Amino acid sequence: MNTNPEITGTTKLCGVMGDPVGHSVSPAMHNAAFRALGLDYAYLPFRVRREDLPAALQGMRALNIRGLNVTIPHKVALLPLLDEIDTLALQIGAVNVLLNDCGRLSGYNTDAQGFLRMLTGNGVDPQGKNVVVLGAGGAARAISFALASRGASLTILNRTAAPAQACAADISRAFSLSIKVLDLNRESLAHALQQASLLVNATSVGMSPQADATPVDLELLGPNITVVDIVYNPYKSRLLKEAEQASARTINGLEMLVWQGALAFEIWTGGQPPLNVMRQAATAALKSYEK
Ligand code: NAP
Repeated sequence: MNTNPEITGTTKLCGVMGDPVGHSVSPAMHNAAFRALGLDYAYLPFRVRREDLPAALQGMRALNIRGLNVTIPHKVALLPLLDEIDTLALQIGAVNVLLNDCGRLSGYNTDAQGFLRMLTGNGVDPQGKNVVVLGAGGAARAISFALASRGASLTILNRTAAPAQACAADISRAFSLSIKVLDLNRESLAHALQQASLLVNATSVGMSPQADATPVDLELLGPNITVVDIVYNPYKSRLLKEAEQASARTINGLEMLVWQGALAFEIWTGGQPPLNVMRQAATAALKSYEK
């Protein structure tokens, strides 16, 4: 056990790769976890533009980076560039964790499980519920898959039709379900929300630095719906603030972040993640960004 928090000649490197990554709280969360357990690991943010993804993966191999979290906009695009993809990630069609085993890159998905842990931790059971999911990117795919696996009826709304249709087709095939797909606009939202008891924002709308944006007008929200925003930066997004004003129940995405990170930590280190340390570090990092 390395109780010395200094970087050494044997330190293993992990990180988060995406664009943007400047407001990520993952470095604070994972470095706190490594320190708490005395592990000889360090974690850094890597801003990787869309067009540089293949080079970044080659760099991960060449530099022997042990593990990466993957975020916007790479979770779907990197699938064909990996050596191995675990079954769940392949079914979901999105990867948010990479493991480098002697130059062989494997992809995993911990967003789906992280989302379910957050829901169950808040006492929400998706079984039989009408759920509206906003978005069809990497996170939305994982969330829609997780919800379908727990027996929810889904309506997916996205700004662009093609990824939403592809997401719905993949999930329909996996679970023999019918999934509605609508354009993300006011009229479709009003229609879909009439029958829904759970709304999940899995778009990046409202994420800092565009924190004054919201994907749903306040007038469309009411007391009979639970609103989950997986955007965790700012801690309380405009969507969640307005949902509170409309007397809806609200759930913030920080707990999903902590769980998906904890599951990634297990994949990289093989050890038990210190959940409370990770939660506290992520919360403190977020508060410091908001000052
Ligand atoms: P992604 O793959 O790039 O997908 C982005 C999604 O947002 C797409 O559906 C995109 O629609 C939509 N979108 C982007 N800008 C939009 C706009 N101006 N208007 C309407 N829709 C817009 O990203 P991701 O990895 O899924 O992440 C999405 C968000 O979830 C990010 O804010 C990320 O930080 C958050 N997240 C949180 C957690 C957590 O643990 N809490 C985990 C994962 C992700 P188009 O298809 O039309 O482009």
